[in-house]
Amino acid sequence: MPDTAPRPIDLPTVFAHVDAHRQVFLDRLADYLRHPSISAEGVGVGETAAYVGDVMEQIGLATRALPSGGWPVLLGERAGPPGAPTVLLYGHYDVQPPDPLEAWVSPPFAPTVRDGRLYARGAGDNKGQHFAQLLAIESLLAVAGALPCSVKVLLEGEEEIGSPHLAETVREQRDALAADLVITSDGPVHESGRSQLVCGVRGVVSFELRARHAERDLHSGNWGGVAPNPLWTLVHLLSTMKDERGLISVDGFYDNVLAPTPAEDAALAELSVDDAAVRRSVGLARFDEPTERPYADRLAFWPTLTLNGLHGGYGGPGSKTVLPHEAVAKCDVRLVEAQSVAEVQGKIAAHVARHAPEVEIDFGSGMEPSKTPLDSPYVAPLRAAIATAQGAEPLLVPSLGGSLPDYVWTKLLGVPAFGVPYANPDEANHAPNENIEVERFYAGIKTGAAMLAALGAMG
Ligand SMILES: [Zn+2]
Repeated sequence: MPDTAPRPIDLPTVFAHVDAHRQVFLDRLADYLRHPSISAEGVGVGETAAYVGDVMEQIGLATRALPSGGWPVLLGERAGPPGAPTVLLYGHYDVQPPDPLEAWVSPPFAPTVRDGRLYARGAGDNKGQHFAQLLAIESLLAVAGALPCSVKVLLEGEEEIGSPHLAETVREQRDALAADLVITSDGPVHESGRSQLVCGVRGVVSFELRARHAERDLHSGNWGGVAPNPLWTLVHLLSTMKDERGLISVDGFYDNVLAPTPAEDAALAELSVDDAAVRRSVGLARFDEPTERPYADRLAFWPTLTLNGLHGGYGGPGSKTVLPHEAVAKCDVRLVEAQSVAEVQGKIAAHVARHAPEVEIDFGSGMEPSKTPLDSPYVAPLRAAIATAQGAEPLLVPSLGGSLPDYVWTKLLGVPAFGVPYANPDEANHAPNENIEVERFYAGIKTGAAMLAALGAMG
């Protein structure tokens, strides 16, 4: 039933409610984290879905599992006052496998607090973060009796295996998922410790090039100079795809790449880093070309072609005078707005067909880029809400260098999508000793509440 007569939200009272429930909120998160939900291994996923579905019901969300081709996709809803925006909060209740177990100081599914951090698989990625959103909803209801805006919480159980059914679910459940904006709290805050409002991600296209000449390896003396070498075939082809200045020389590759807007340039300037310190952190003597493009700009607005691996022939000790019969190159492209997976795949396939028609190309998984314009009407209220809850202005990030399936919101659902990460930069997600700083967990609850209040105040 819609809450039609909400009391105005008094955020200090909501924050006081959170402060008064610190221990019980932490205990409840620990209880959730005790449930393994390893999607890659199918361990505990269904049970954990049932558990968190019950939590969603108990805090006051009408919850159901949407039909999907995989593990349950949970949708919990609660209407706010008429005219207020509807926000969809996305998260995932599955976790990465905990291996190697011996590297954990305390067992991955026995949550333990040490030095102000809660250690457990899923503490940061992503149970701790979406549980903070759920507690934000609970706290608002406890204090005000109603939500300031309409809320839909969507939790899936397959994010850690690449969200294979998410796009299909969003397409088929457009009406159920209809919202004005989407917020995802996942991943870490900025390396500096500052919170961030993330407005985009790069896309990705993976592919494999395979050259095969003879049907078996050959003697390099008896056949060298006569039989073509598949490794050289790939090396020659690859050299036509990217030049020494770092420019991708696939025909038409940059046709759809958009230059940053003045607002995006201004946001990037805020993200400037100490280049020398960044290089030192990974032992780099130099950055790749084109070095005239600033660091943050290259991660946000510049596509890349990465050679992930080049395999073939002999790599063992000493020498082997062999002429290999097969070679493989694995590559990925990071796409920027407004490139698309199909367009880039088509251009690469045409390039390979023209330059090395005997080379086979296989495209693996692809993910579209996503970008929410920085002049979206939600940017200012969300930034202000984060600042209110955390006492510091968040960084505005036009795009992450990495890839997340945000396109399902911006391109399939057609709404703005934002990332508001709550976890510490050293959360060790996907690694042993995953953790969340407990203060960041509480700040996440307050931030969630402040964001819903700010959206409600937009009317
Ligand atoms: Zn993850």
